[in-house]
Amino acid sequence: MTIAELSIEKAQEGLLSKEFSALEFLEEALRIVEEKEPNLHAFLTLTPELAKEAAKVTDEKIAKGQKLLALSGIPCSVKDAILVQGVRCTAASRMLENYIAPYDAFVTKKIKEAGVSIMGKTNMDEFGMGASTENSSFGPTTNPVDPKRVPGGSSGGSAVSVASSESMISLGEDTGGSIRQPASFCGIVGLKPTYGAVSRAGIISLASSLDQVGSLAKSARDAEILFQVIQGKDPKDATSISPPTTRKKMNMKELRIGIPKEYFAKGLDTDVKKVVEGAIQKFEQAGASLVEVELPSVEYALAAYYVINTSEASSNLARYDGVRYGLHQEASNLLGEYLDSRGAGFGKEVKRRIMLGTYALSAGYYDAYYVKAQKVRSLLKQDFERAFLKADVLMGPTSPVLPFRFGERTKDPLAMYLIDIYTVPVNLVGLPAISLPAGTVGNLPVGLQVISPAFSEDLLFSVGKMLEKL
Ligand code: GLN
Repeated sequence: MTIAELSIEKAQEGLLSKEFSALEFLEEALRIVEEKEPNLHAFLTLTPELAKEAAKVTDEKIAKGQKLLALSGIPCSVKDAILVQGVRCTAASRMLENYIAPYDAFVTKKIKEAGVSIMGKTNMDEFGMGASTENSSFGPTTNPVDPKRVPGGSSGGSAVSVASSESMISLGEDTGGSIRQPASFCGIVGLKPTYGAVSRAGIISLASSLDQVGSLAKSARDAEILFQVIQGKDPKDATSISPPTTRKKMNMKELRIGIPKEYFAKGLDTDVKKVVEGAIQKFEQAGASLVEVELPSVEYALAAYYVINTSEASSNLARYDGVRYGLHQEASNLLGEYLDSRGAGFGKEVKRRIMLGTYALSAGYYDAYYVKAQKVRSLLKQDFERAFLKADVLMGPTSPVLPFRFGERTKDPLAMYLIDIYTVPVNLVGLPAISLPAGTVGNLPVGLQVISPAFSEDLLFSVGKMLEKL
């Protein structure tokens, strides 16, 4: 059995039956990394020693006949925006090229406590700004199914590490689609949890009212196991809450699937549309019912998202002043040090967003842009509430297009922003959503996005398992 064929539960059965040790299992993952990394570049930093230490602890547990923990012996990669104590954390920015994380993020602590083997930090668009990993300051990641194409982003390295079996699971971060879209482009499962379900403490912030950490995995069950480990209240993040205790069980025959007509409108690639409709049909044939729903404010979601994203980013990124964090450039006065450090440390997209966000928040324009964008959020929230009166989940595409070629969208930022059209609405309203592999066009993967009411991730996982069976 190889890592490529195993689920978390199957791998742990193999460990318990002594088919292989945790160290042997990890070494196979590290061998795949060595073989594939020159072509993929999914990782920015590898941590084989950290991973081996954890694997040894798992092997000792097994030798003593102790019970395994939820993630004992499982090789896992972590997006480079999530702090792992003592390990370099760059957010793919020159600004943090030599920054060593002084502590563990809440989610890192949780996965370590669950016995995981952290094997490295994955590539991403700088500070999470992008949809292709082309904005990484350290070079892009390649899509494993076609080396000429992007893996999606910003958590592209995480998605590729899982899709190529370099690691079994990965922690990503999603502000406007950064887990779901690369999962879709790489043919794996990606969950963006409800806002507040997972603590953001120890995450390098992009836009604090939108950011959420979530799981990337090959199956809905693996994504579920990882989510269950990382969710929960953290005193260091006041927006986090304890998981609700009531769980809604649902079978296929009861499932009411809402089809938002805005998710199938102009701009959707016809091949992507066919695959997504095909997946939805499978649910219908198995007994689920379909109902059309309307989300009229989705029309304004992308515009509102980019006002809010850039505004919050401009404020969050003010901390990188060349004094407190990361890159420092000497100059003859303090202002010069700020300008030179930020000028040298940030890439083009980051500078663009800082300028846009600062403008949107400026005294004369605050009401016209930022406040108006916040109002769109309220309208969108009402749209989703209405839709969930008629449907248990909503289904549509994750991305309007197939994985595109390198360079295809880098010259025109708007063309890159448009990719996020179906993913940003849930971030604006805090809802959970999952991207599930729905099929392919040629060899290019297509993702089905499933959206559910707040704190009903369990429903998303059961829908994911239903689709895998179908
Ligand atoms: N592509 C989106 C953006 O550039 C999403 C980023 C994210 O989710 N981190 O903002």
